[in-house]
Amino acid sequence: MKHVLVLGAGQLARMMALAGAPLNIKISAFDVNSGNIVHPLTQQVLGNGLTTAIEHADVITAEFEHIPLDVLDVCEKSGKFFPTTQAIKAGGDRRIEKSLLDSAQVKNAKYAVINNRDDFDAAIEYVGLPMVLKTALGGYDGKGQWRLKSAEHVDAVWCELAQALQDNPNQSIVAEEFVPFQREVSLVGARNASGDIAIYPLAENVHTDGVLTLSTAIDEPALQQQAATMFEAVANSLQYVGVLALEFFDVNGELLVNEIAPRVHNSGHWTQQGAETCQFENHLRAVCGMPLGSTQAIRATSMVNILGEDQVSDSVYALTGCHVHWYGKEKRRGRKMGHINVCAHDKAALKESLLELSELLDAQAFPALKPAALAL
Ligand code: AMP
Repeated sequence: MKHVLVLGAGQLARMMALAGAPLNIKISAFDVNSGNIVHPLTQQVLGNGLTTAIEHADVITAEFEHIPLDVLDVCEKSGKFFPTTQAIKAGGDRRIEKSLLDSAQVKNAKYAVINNRDDFDAAIEYVGLPMVLKTALGGYDGKGQWRLKSAEHVDAVWCELAQALQDNPNQSIVAEEFVPFQREVSLVGARNASGDIAIYPLAENVHTDGVLTLSTAIDEPALQQQAATMFEAVANSLQYVGVLALEFFDVNGELLVNEIAPRVHNSGHWTQQGAETCQFENHLRAVCGMPLGSTQAIRATSMVNILGEDQVSDSVYALTGCHVHWYGKEKRRGRKMGHINVCAHDKAALKESLLELSELLDAQAFPALKPAALAL
């Protein structure tokens, strides 16, 4: 029996616990907001503080990147923390992420870092318009972002950027060229301490208002090869141990990295039913020093996120190839409440199933599903 302490007590820790049980890997979770150690499935407080939990754990890992630095420091000092603090910091700070990508020689959007008005003017000159501006710290799912389309809006946008910089003295803004991509894809893979790497098929992702709504595993060898090379460069440069996700823009078949996520990823949830070994099991295998499991796709699979709903009709449960995963969270507007993995024997059948599912789900709550299924 191995005991893994996960920093973060959300759905990703929950799904690690579910995947770890057959391997005799026991998970407890550190709820960063309350400071409690909790059971990842029931959220029941387990009663011991972080220091004791660190002592009792064989391995420590994380389910998200916005972890207070003091917590990260004590975990690092224990010598039990994987992937690495550097990887977590790169996932939580766009400045570190960008310089990591540059040093690993991995293509990403042209950018500049802004700390004051002079930097902003220089960034407009260097990066050009239109541009996308993102807070270096604390941004996720498209939050903490601005679009600057033309020179007439420079002053108005600057007012908002100046406010964000003033609110947090450690904050910077990263200005990025606007990338005219055709679609967004992501690659999830695992690396263990021996340097073995196992990579899943790419997923094609559809976002609605900056939030992932649909992910479909794709089989495109040339693109897969390109993404895998970038994955290896990033994972090896970080001496990464665990599951890592890279999000890309696909610009006419050329990939640019948009973001790295040093953890199991929403666009990898399809692996629970669509791959030989799911991403949660492979993360645990990697951090526990075990051999990695096969990442091969076993059938055509898509994942549909359930946002702001806490029930679906019985006909969804009755649909062949449909697997519903709830996170046990309190219902809130737009909140990720669960997901549905939809599996079929081939792409055409998957399209049929997704169309059937889109008829059973509320079109307002799942706006992307039908058009995305039609486009498959
Ligand atoms: P992010 O939080 O960086 O993943 O950005 C959220 C979404 O904004 C992405 O999924 C893209 O759809 C869009 N986006 C981010 N950066 C850019 C960019 N440089 N050019 C065009 N669209 C972008």
